Amino acid sequence: MPNALWFNPAELLIGGAWRGTVDTLELINPSDGSHLADIARGTARDIDAAVTAAHTARAGAWGTMTAAERGRLLSEIGRRVLDRIDDLARLEALDVGKPLTQARADVVALARYMEFYGGAADKVMGDTIPYLDGYTVYTLREPHGVTGHIVPWNYPMQIIGRSVGAALTMGNACVLKPAEEACLTALAFARICQEAGLPDGALNVVPGLGAEAGAALASHPNIQHISFTGSVTTGALVQQAAGANVVPVTLELGGKSPQLVFDDADIEAALPFLVNAGIQNAGQTCSASSRILVQRGAYDDVRIRMEEAYSELLVAPALDDKSVGPLISDRQKSIVDSYIAQGADLTIAAQGRLDNTPETGAYVRPTLFADVPPDHTLAREEIFGPVQVLIPFDTEAQAIEIANSTDYGLVASIWTEKGARQMRLAKALRAGQIFINNYGAGGGVELPFGGMGKSGHGREKGFEALYGFSSLKTVAARHG
Ligand code: NAD
Repeated sequence: MPNALWFNPAELLIGGAWRGTVDTLELINPSDGSHLADIARGTARDIDAAVTAAHTARAGAWGTMTAAERGRLLSEIGRRVLDRIDDLARLEALDVGKPLTQARADVVALARYMEFYGGAADKVMGDTIPYLDGYTVYTLREPHGVTGHIVPWNYPMQIIGRSVGAALTMGNACVLKPAEEACLTALAFARICQEAGLPDGALNVVPGLGAEAGAALASHPNIQHISFTGSVTTGALVQQAAGANVVPVTLELGGKSPQLVFDDADIEAALPFLVNAGIQNAGQTCSASSRILVQRGAYDDVRIRMEEAYSELLVAPALDDKSVGPLISDRQKSIVDSYIAQGADLTIAAQGRLDNTPETGAYVRPTLFADVPPDHTLAREEIFGPVQVLIPFDTEAQAIEIANSTDYGLVASIWTEKGARQMRLAKALRAGQIFINNYGAGGGVELPFGGMGKSGHGREKGFEALYGFSSLKTVAARHG
């Protein structure tokens, strides 16, 4: 932990007031299995109080702020996030298990969201629409009201930035339910928002179990929008619960994102993207690239280079800051281990090495499987661990068929120098984001992001998120 925590991890935040709960939950440090902190175990009653506080904020100081004032405030929050970069990175590394350098990048991304949305707040405009003679018609973009945000454990800061950041920009008041496995930076962020002057109740944070606090938020009759990031199974439950109240839902779910490498690709340039996109955050990334499809002529070259890269991967405690940290929990480790065991009929091309890892941590060696048939379980299901499969293909048509053959459609990338092929594939691949000769470049705060198929629906990030976190009203004035 940082020497001086600037918040109490066992408290939740409702209407500007921090307080404890009757029961608490234990946060475990995944690097060594030790006790990290006790956190609040919010209940349905706390969620209800948070929703009420959010409505009060909308009716008061928060609801009357101008767009420019909101923008200034968000930018200020971004600056204060960067001021705390060392503390926030350390907290995220300890809580999630990600190497410090990756945690620092998440802090920068959170600050970037605040900066981007701070600048955008007073630039969201409606239209004037030509209509009948004697009419003036225009549209207004209004906040939904109170928005719910259910966030997973893998990128707490980034996901809070993209969803809470965009919702606040449009003037919504938020109720945030962070994950029970990792919620320290959510609390730290809320404290920073308070210190920056965010009015009471504009952001409420209620940690707790998914089946308790999460379910209560998803089914609350008095929220006007819910944004959920997590697993397909839980996303479907959230959609059902919100549907009963006709509350709109944004779902950011899982993926099995492919990178397609053609014979003419610049393999040297591709290599870091091929490997990093699979092992970043120990593969616990919704947009992880877990399938590497390689055209037969380049296959051996890509395989050899990836094997070399894998043999240099070091798995170590988060604060040692090597390539890969532990998984979030023993539970997640046993899921990933069982997937690797399901590859017993396949060839393991290469694995990373453990480096000074305590027995009590949730460590898995990054594993690269070669010559994997596209219909194998490891080529179809999301593993959410540092596991990649190499799949050979012959023709462009075959590559498209394999790439589009899973239930998911989050991200895809195309490695080829041929412009016409780039354009054809960008249209043919089923994914919410397509990268050409790169993958997930720069975190992409500015780039609309979201899924097709079981990867979810709705878009976050970029300007597009601001439309998702607002309602369009049409005003038709007849004046003769
Ligand atoms: P999860 O669905 O179990 O949990 C996500 C959040 O939902 C947590 O805050 C949890 O407390 C809450 N939750 C659990 N049960 C709930 C319920 N019944 N009602 C309401 N909320 C509930 O997912 P996870 O295991 O924490 O995360 C891993 C999954 O999330 C992976 O499948 C991954 O692909 C996906 N994910 C997707 C994205 C994305 O942006 N597309 C980002 C991160 C993770």
